[in-house]
Amino acid sequence: MITAPRFQISPFDSPLAEFLQRLPAGARYALYPLGRYTRACFADAAEETIAAEGRQLVGFIDDAGSGPWQGKPVATLRDAAEQWRLDAILLLRDTADRALARRIDALRAEGLLDGVQIVDQPAPHLSAMLAHLETYHPACAYSPEFVASCRSAENVFHVKHSSLALTLDAEVFPYGSDADLPLFGRVMREFTRILADSGASATLCVQLEDTPGGMRATPPEVVQAFLDAFGPRSIGLHGWNHDMPADGYAFEWFERGLDALRTRYGVRTSYWAPPGWTLSWRTLRVLRRTPIRFGRGVWTGVNVRQAEIVETFRTPYRVGELWQIPYSYADWMFVDVDGRPQDWSLIAKRHAALAEFAAAGPCLIESVAHPFRFVGPDWRERLGVVRDTLRLYVERNVRISGVCEWLS
Ligand SMILES: [Zn+2]
Repeated sequence: MITAPRFQISPFDSPLAEFLQRLPAGARYALYPLGRYTRACFADAAEETIAAEGRQLVGFIDDAGSGPWQGKPVATLRDAAEQWRLDAILLLRDTADRALARRIDALRAEGLLDGVQIVDQPAPHLSAMLAHLETYHPACAYSPEFVASCRSAENVFHVKHSSLALTLDAEVFPYGSDADLPLFGRVMREFTRILADSGASATLCVQLEDTPGGMRATPPEVVQAFLDAFGPRSIGLHGWNHDMPADGYAFEWFERGLDALRTRYGVRTSYWAPPGWTLSWRTLRVLRRTPIRFGRGVWTGVNVRQAEIVETFRTPYRVGELWQIPYSYADWMFVDVDGRPQDWSLIAKRHAALAEFAAAGPCLIESVAHPFRFVGPDWRERLGVVRDTLRLYVERNVRISGVCEWLS
């Protein structure tokens, strides 16, 4: 089904390259701190990256001051400031750490670190991170880029209809009590029936285990109801648990989740909805060793280029082996992530806008929803609203399906 990528950006360059590009040629620099992340970045970086244009890595700065590591000295910040001749310090972590900023200021006040450039993470711009929310406002005017990318799905995914790929991130939010879990199951069985009655299907992205103090796992009866209604291709992976590690997911985390889907439910999937939508260059490398070929996410971590975030969610997009279709975040906002009630009158408007847009021509849009929002004492009324909004699509001949339908 899938032919060629629209464009391809390589995220596999070392994230160190992002920092080093900001140093002049020949600069002498140190990396701070020497934690797991720095070690990982360093291990992945080619020698040409570390020493590009005559730049010289003097050593690592770490408060533990151990070392040496990888043949380079390790010093505390004070020792490095006093003893090393540096042009720059690259802060790979803790860049928002006020205590660190104060320590640097104090050293500067002593005349140390004079002329030393402090290079922060190229943090993603908030507006870029949240740019996908443009498509979430009921009165949004879809940007020309979004319109073009949804329509261009015709070329990439061979879309002939107005198509909405509905994905459900099926974690249970932590504010719920244990008593809510059976209710979640009951509400989801009813929702599954409504979906099927509407001639629609979806991809249920399953969380296999509870996250201590965080999201609860998808109850097994919810997964079973979906399997019974829509078959094994309707199941995707949300995660083994709902961890959102800053330096990317480990292969074992995927392995455990995919194994559990197979052994508990007899499901093999190639779709992954990252918890918190967090994608990073390290995760992408790990994904190459998994059967995951389709995903959705917002770029995080130091390898984020602002333009890259904006582009990736809008465009049928392949990065490495991973495909993403443009998504719109309509959801069913009965409550927010803390369980606080929202203005229900906006829900139909959001879906009407999306249905209207999708109906205008062949296209493929992923629409993301969180079924925990259906659960509450008034769940019957909520599901009534869901049924009515699904009708908005049916009336306009917009086909709602699971994302796996588009996988070859
Ligand atoms: Zn989630």
